[in-house]
Amino acid sequence: MRSCEVGKPDAHVVESIINTALLEVAMKPSNYREQALKLFPWVCGRCGRDFEGKQLRELTVHHKDHNHNNNPSDGSNWELLCIYCHDQEHTRFETMHTSPDREEHQGTYNPFAGLDRLLKPDDDSET
Ligand SMILES: [Zn+2]
Ligand SMILES: [Zn+2]
Repeated sequence: MRSCEVGKPDAHVVESIINTALLEVAMKPSNYREQALKLFPWVCGRCGRDFEGKQLRELTVHHKDHNHNNNPSDGSNWELLCIYCHDQEHTRFETMHTSPDREEHQGTYNPFAGLDRLLKPDDDSET
């Protein structure tokens, strides 16, 4: 689905990029949990507690690579964890990965990255 590399942004290309980005943003946060709950048994992957009914609120979707924007529909990046085990999982990860002096790298994937540049190629001059 790649028709052209780089060039003048042409209106309908830009529009479709925006639409795709908006769609992805709109779908991501709410949908992956429901999908994960359809794919996996309602059991915490750590402590093995199982959930049903109202308790299901305590079962959360963990991202194995800790990237919340990585949501393959086959569920390969998801793991169902109860809120307690989920919390522990993140504490452990942060302890492991926090650099002692600074936190400069933000690994957050931004679907709009590059969009600015595309929309207005080179005009620092007129603000
Ligand atoms: Zn658990
Ligand atoms: Zn998590």
